[in-house]
Amino acid sequence: MMKKIGVFPGSFDPFTKGHENIIERFLPLFDVIIIGVGGNTSKKYMYSKEVRINHIKSIFEYEPKIVVEPYTGLTVDFCQEKKAQYLLRGLRNTTDFNYEKSIALMNKQLKGIETLFLMTDEGLSHISSTIIRDIAKNNGDLTPFVTNSDKLII
Ligand code: ADP
Repeated sequence: MMKKIGVFPGSFDPFTKGHENIIERFLPLFDVIIIGVGGNTSKKYMYSKEVRINHIKSIFEYEPKIVVEPYTGLTVDFCQEKKAQYLLRGLRNTTDFNYEKSIALMNKQLKGIETLFLMTDEGLSHISSTIIRDIAKNNGDLTPFVTNSDKLII
């Protein structure tokens, strides 16, 4: 049987408990989930790709179904290269929805890849990487929002 492979793409600057929750809930549906750590060339990141990848790897160290990999270029091309049939995304609110809807339709039209969405669990929808970066810059405590936050070295 063909393996069910899903790609969860993002910049993950940094990876939060919100992202972690989405992955954990998608996990029973897939044989393999590839967390694709992308990088938009026009965007500046707080954490290097290496730090972001090692941080995510440390969180899922004991889960053999999860693979963490960097990628550049179009997300759909990465999916095709990895033989993934599905793109996985999380939705927090209507802003996420409106943005994700266009991208999902474009990706379907480009390569026929379906996107699956899970709504964020209660109590996690306020967590955003942007706010976490702000807390980090001001030496605040990241532990309520990020697992293994000690791995996030600037
Ligand atoms: P991108 O730069 O591609 O938007 P992000 O790292 O910001 O990447 O987000 C990756 C995915 O995780 C997106 O689908 C986003 O909606 C989702 N996400 C982000 N924060 C949360 C959260 N707190 N709960 C659920 N999903 C989230």
